Amino acid sequence: MRFIDEFRNSAAGQGLAGRIQEKKTRPVNLMEVCGTHTVAIFKHGIRQFLPEEVNLLSGPGCPVCVTPNTDIDKAIALAQNAGVILATFGDMMKVPGSYSSLHQVKATGADIKVVYSVLDALTIARDNPHKSTVFFGVGFETTAPTTAGAILEAERLGIDNFFFLSVHKLIPPAMRALLDADEVHIDGFICPGHVSTIIGSQPYEFIPREYDIPCVIAGFEPLDILQAIDMLLEQISAKEPRVDIQYRRAVRKEGNPVALKHLSTVFEVTDACWRGIGSIPESGLKLSQHYKRFDAERAFKIDIGPSKEAAGCRCGDILRGVATPNECRLFAKACTPENPVGPCMVSTEGSCAAWYLYGGEGKALSPLGEPQ
Ligand code: SF4
Repeated sequence: MRFIDEFRNSAAGQGLAGRIQEKKTRPVNLMEVCGTHTVAIFKHGIRQFLPEEVNLLSGPGCPVCVTPNTDIDKAIALAQNAGVILATFGDMMKVPGSYSSLHQVKATGADIKVVYSVLDALTIARDNPHKSTVFFGVGFETTAPTTAGAILEAERLGIDNFFFLSVHKLIPPAMRALLDADEVHIDGFICPGHVSTIIGSQPYEFIPREYDIPCVIAGFEPLDILQAIDMLLEQISAKEPRVDIQYRRAVRKEGNPVALKHLSTVFEVTDACWRGIGSIPESGLKLSQHYKRFDAERAFKIDIGPSKEAAGCRCGDILRGVATPNECRLFAKACTPENPVGPCMVSTEGSCAAWYLYGGEGKALSPLGEPQ
């Protein structure tokens, strides 16, 4: 298949759904750990095509959602520094921190610019030599290489007013943390396609090896997801857990060596704090010694008060897969995409936003095309 509509072919989708139905599996929980998968599952109504024994759970796959309030508070504090331009992605603007949001402080005069890429932030720094530009870039292994590239470029160009507030996170350690916490039974992982284009399949090998749990790296079209579910059920029924790659058109076992080289040049692995989960060993990236001068936390004094969560918000439970959005009493009442209380309702990849937009089962009448 070469074109996107082929990956949305209704007849092929029905065929895959039929195969899954025929498998007559025991009850299983399959977790996706990628916000793009979460949205695709709702958007294409994938759940409607699964037997009731196959339950899909959303995990901590939305980078905006897993960023804890402490880090959002730091970004807000930096933005309130008169000498700073804070550059960030649009999704971060409305995410509530402990006391306000970037959107709110921008309204009071903070110099915040929405960018589409870290390279836009670098351009802002170059065009504004009398101010410091801080890039607040959330993201997983997918976006971290471009941040690394921008820092290498800043060094090459001798740009000394560009800084980075590092909140990049790594997915496989979060999967281990969920398994070790054992709050929710997971029978298989739908592994993130984008992240895996960078890291390949090897970093997930510990999951079948140590936990006997199958993994399939999946693409984002309806047929990709249905095929990945079918492949997971095959592994479960054969009791032969391993890491399979369904998304072969983009993911290689060894990942992307150039991107990985950029990452290891600029960053070191460090412990990181995740919303709802807490500190996870070796799940974040910090600037390596040679690039420390780009570290916003070293360059600026950042004073934040004690962080706190919005009362009643269950984003943490949702990110751990122990609750669904409709189990939050604020869902679709006090909390809507127009007035979000928590990040899972703000982000386009958030579970609450997807649930609100498409309903719990998704709104598509078939896995083909757009929702009806
Ligand atoms: Fe938080 Fe809103 Fe989701 Fe409830 S519905 S968990 S308040 S984001």
